[in-house]
Formats: sequence, C-alpha cells, structure tokens
Amino acid sequence: MAKKSAILVLNAGSSSLKFSVFRQSSDSVELETLLSGQVSGIGSTAKFEAKGADRRSLAEHVWDDKDSLCRDTLLLYVLRWIQSSLIDDDIVAVGHRVVHGGQSLDRPMPVTQDLLEELYGLIPLAPLHQPHNLAPMRILGKSYPDLEQVACFDTAFHRNQPWVARTFALPQELTNEGVCSYGFHGLSYEYVTKHLLDIRPDLADKHIVICHLGNGSSICAVKGGRSMDTSMGFSALDGLPMGTRTGSIDPGVILYLMREKQMGLDELEDLLYRRSGLLGVSGLSNDMKILQESDEPQAAQAVELFCFRVAKEIAALASSMGGFDALVFTAGIGENSPQIRSMISERLAWLGVKISAEANAGKAFDISGVDSKVPVFVVPTNEELMIAKHTISVLGQRMGEA
Ligand code: AMP
Repeated sequence: MAKKSAILVLNAGSSSLKFSVFRQSSDSVELETLLSGQVSGIGSTAKFEAKGADRRSLAEHVWDDKDSLCRDTLLLYVLRWIQSSLIDDDIVAVGHRVVHGGQSLDRPMPVTQDLLEELYGLIPLAPLHQPHNLAPMRILGKSYPDLEQVACFDTAFHRNQPWVARTFALPQELTNEGVCSYGFHGLSYEYVTKHLLDIRPDLADKHIVICHLGNGSSICAVKGGRSMDTSMGFSALDGLPMGTRTGSIDPGVILYLMREKQMGLDELEDLLYRRSGLLGVSGLSNDMKILQESDEPQAAQAVELFCFRVAKEIAALASSMGGFDALVFTAGIGENSPQIRSMISERLAWLGVKISAEANAGKAFDISGVDSKVPVFVVPTNEELMIAKHTISVLGQRMGEA
C-alpha cells in the first residue's frame, strides 16, 4: 500500500527544538496530528520527549554527554526517530518557523539557496532567534537534499500594515535601512483570525483585537483579516511586559543605564530580555500560573501590572484601526487563565466589555456577558498547524501520495 504524505513542522529556538508531524488525509482538507515533541535543554542537559496523537508519551531520552552534542546531531536524531516511528507515512516536506522575514517577505516561501542567503542577511534584526531558526534548513538541505522545505515567517502577517503603524519617528535614512516596526507572533494571529472567522464570518470586516498572551506576549489589531497594527515592533522586546522581557520602556532608561551604571551591550541585553518582565517585577517567577498561586505581594503586583498594560494596549490598538468590535484571547495565559481575562476585561468596562463569569470559568469559545457591547472570545492558537497548512499550499501539487 502506498504510504501517506506527512509534513514535519520545526520550531528551532536557542535551547529547544520543537516538532510536530501532520498527515493530510486524502478525503479531507483537515490535517491530523500524528506526533509532537521537543528536544529541550540544548547546550546544557539535552532531553528528547515525544508524544503520539493521543498526547501519550511515546519516547524520552536524556543525553548526559553535553560536549559531544551539536544541533546537527540532535536534529538528525529527531528526524530518524520520527521516520522509524511512522509506519504508514513518509515525511515529504518540512515547514520551518522563522522569526524574521524582513521588509519584503510577506508570505511563506520554498527554501532555496537564494532565500537562505537573504534570511542569513536578516540575522542582525533578530540575532537571538534567526540563526537558530535557519540552522535546521542548512542541516536538512545537506543530509536530505530531496526533502522539500518551506520557511514561514512570524513577521509576514504584519507586512502590509499602513505605513503609520510601521514607522518610528526617526530620521528617514534609518527607516529606509529597516529600522521600523515589524511585529511578531504573526503565525498565531493568522491562525486565530482564520479560526475565528470560520466560526463567525459576520466579523470578517469588523475591528478585532487579538491578545496573544503567553511567555512572549503581544496584541494585534485585525481588520478585514489583515494586521493593521501590533504591540511588538522592531524586536520581540516591545509592547507588553512578558515572562522575562520588559516590553516598552522609555528609551531614556537605556541611556541612563549606559551612562550612570556603565552597562554594556551584553548586560543590557540580559536585563531587557532575561531579567525583567513578570520575573523582574515579582522577583519570583516568569510563570504566570505560579504568580497567580503565590501569596507574595510582589507576585500580585506583577500580575496587576501585566493586566494594566494589556488593557492599555488593547485601547491603543482599537484606536489604531478606528474601532473595536471583538476581543480575542489566545496563547498560554490568554487560553488558560480566567482570572487574567477577568482582570483585563474589568479595566475595559468603560469600552463596554463585559464577560460572563460562568462562561469565563469554563472552556467556552464565547465568554461575552449578555450585556457586553463587544463580544469576547477565547481561541486556542496553533502555530504549528498554520505552518503545516502553509507548507502544503506552497508546495501545491507536489503534495500527492509519496
Ligand atoms: P505559552 O508561551 O503560550 O506556552 O504560555 C506560557 C504561559 O502561560 C506561562 O506564563 C504559564 O504560566 C501560562 N499559563 C499556562 N496555564 C496557565 C493557567 N492555567 N493559569 C495561568 N497561567 C497559565
């Protein structure tokens, strides 16, 4: 019997490599998850974990020899494990999450040598993420030259925003060089927008504010299925306070820290990316669940500051697109924390936002209160599924049975 075609999705970060395998069933456009998992602790104690379609653990492996482990070895280990675990399917293509597509890449692209060179050229724009995203493309290109690869960009969904949303008040030559707002979490916003509009097509032309609240957090203003503005800008530091990132701060603070504390680049990067946000304010944890369960006053302060900033940003983004017809929560915090959704909604009562305590406490899609002027939804995101769908559409006809 001919084997079925499966798509591997890779999300390679600085210390982890996440993967999912999807099968396209012949009688449906829907994709079925076959396997998922990750290698975590890359660079320290690397651990491989994999789950099957039923989310039950299928395999675990911990390497104790960190020195002999490079990314190439780990990626090839994952690929071989996947191939040996698939009985009825063959991996025919790989979709990659890539944080930066620069000024020109506004859609997923097949990976070619020219594209790889262009993406390597964007490393200065995302030095902490882009090199890790690109490494698997190079490794797979060498070891499996016949495997189709597709790059999907977190910035692409935002590329056609109005110029006012993309431009910083800097001298034009810097803007022209690419010092502008790009926005991130685009694959999540794209997935959530499509999913919401499938269920509520009446919202297609409306003004929708989507809150992606996770360890990394941002908000996006969407109208007509398009991103009109977003809280993250040039880097993934902008906008909301996050697990360990500051979010927006007065740039004068950076000048002060450089001048008065003699902080250098590495120290500032560490402060802004890894020692601030929920962790910095609470002094306890970057994890929202832990903070919500804590009795420490600083934990409560971190939670309150987060909700204050989310509500403020929602109002700002509604203003960016000149309206506010629906509010959506997604990602780890947005999907799982009724308390955070409730605290944010309370701050937006003046805009007519009200949520139903009962629906909010459950796992409801629509959590709007009966008298809410703005409907409020919870839509679980699925960036991996979005990448798999893009990979199939980019490769088009080549995706028949292997
Ligand atoms: P993500 O980056 O989307 O995986 O989201 C991770 C964040 O979601 C962490 O801060 C978690 O603490 C938070 N989170 C997950 N489940 C819950 C929950 N039940 N209550 C509060 N926060 C949660």
